[in-house]
Amino acid sequence: MARETILSKTPEAKEDDPTLRPSRMSEMVGQRDVIARLQIAIDAARQRDEVLGHVLFDGPPGLGKTTFATCIPAELGVHVDFLSGPSLKAPKDLVPSLTNLRAKQVLFIDEIHRIPKAVEEYMYTAMEDFRIDMILGEGINARTHNFKLRPFTLIGATTRAGMLTGPLRDRFQIRERLDFYSLEELAQIVTRNANKLKIEIAQEAAIEIAARSRSTPRVANNRLRWVRDFAQSRAAGKITLDVARDALSMAEIDGLGLDRQDRKYLDTLIRVCMGGPTGIETLAATMNSVTDTLADEVEPFLLRSELILRTPRGRVATPKAFAHLDFDPPQTNEGATLFD
Ligand code: ADP
Repeated sequence: MARETILSKTPEAKEDDPTLRPSRMSEMVGQRDVIARLQIAIDAARQRDEVLGHVLFDGPPGLGKTTFATCIPAELGVHVDFLSGPSLKAPKDLVPSLTNLRAKQVLFIDEIHRIPKAVEEYMYTAMEDFRIDMILGEGINARTHNFKLRPFTLIGATTRAGMLTGPLRDRFQIRERLDFYSLEELAQIVTRNANKLKIEIAQEAAIEIAARSRSTPRVANNRLRWVRDFAQSRAAGKITLDVARDALSMAEIDGLGLDRQDRKYLDTLIRVCMGGPTGIETLAATMNSVTDTLADEVEPFLLRSELILRTPRGRVATPKAFAHLDFDPPQTNEGATLFD
């Protein structure tokens, strides 16, 4: 595959509005401990005039892995290339990026858990000794050539660190897990980004948007963009608390941040399946959905919000889910609730 098709030019492919992404670590909100540790490693590397050790970021989508991969090279004053794990199908897909490295630059691989074993093994010597083997020529003239690379920093991002093999994980000197953001941090992100989008926002409105954003900056940005459109189209271009509430309820995002699909899942589990335990296949079939979508896109937030439990016998709705959807808790034969 040609270099151009593998190298994504910017990390904005998954984002509509690149203006919102912080470009320096000082602009990032939250993740203070991670930032403090990285700053020490960056300072030390700069003082020794050495390349920064390889860094692995792990955490759910939208928490800032790509943002760190954008800010770290800016702090180091080096170039960065962005690669996506699924596009690296064979070692040869990695060769152009490695042989064209600039001094001390950063190479970012998103979804690094999705690279095939052969590519992973090819990366071992690149990461450890800054060398790769290349086969030059064809047929009986083929020769293996050991190619010396310019020292570089690999930044890997994964939503599933558990899927990385031990040998790959161990080659990262710095490993950081990103956590969800507090309400205050998200509200700060919303306020700052409203400024960047040049729209006036009331403090209570920023808190309201943050509260419905699943503790995730990417979700907060998406909600903010919608509320901004709504405010400009329907409300004289200012985001007040009422405007934020009206916009979010029109988008069917409720006070806990659940969307229509989340509520449909809970409604199916509670009303149709009497609260469970119910297998995910049954839920998917009843909802006319597929199990992967439910498991990857719907359940993680419902589990984190303590609205469902995943038990060996199937999914169970918690009392909080019954209350949220305005259902009475289920009764047992004796008249006690299932949770008494
Ligand atoms: P990931 O790579 O983990 O999926 P991103 O780094 O792409 O997530 O983050 C999604 C968006 O959320 C970014 O474009 C940025 O606008 C915002 N964001 C993420 N982390 C922060 C942060 N710490 N401070 C401010 N905004 C952030």
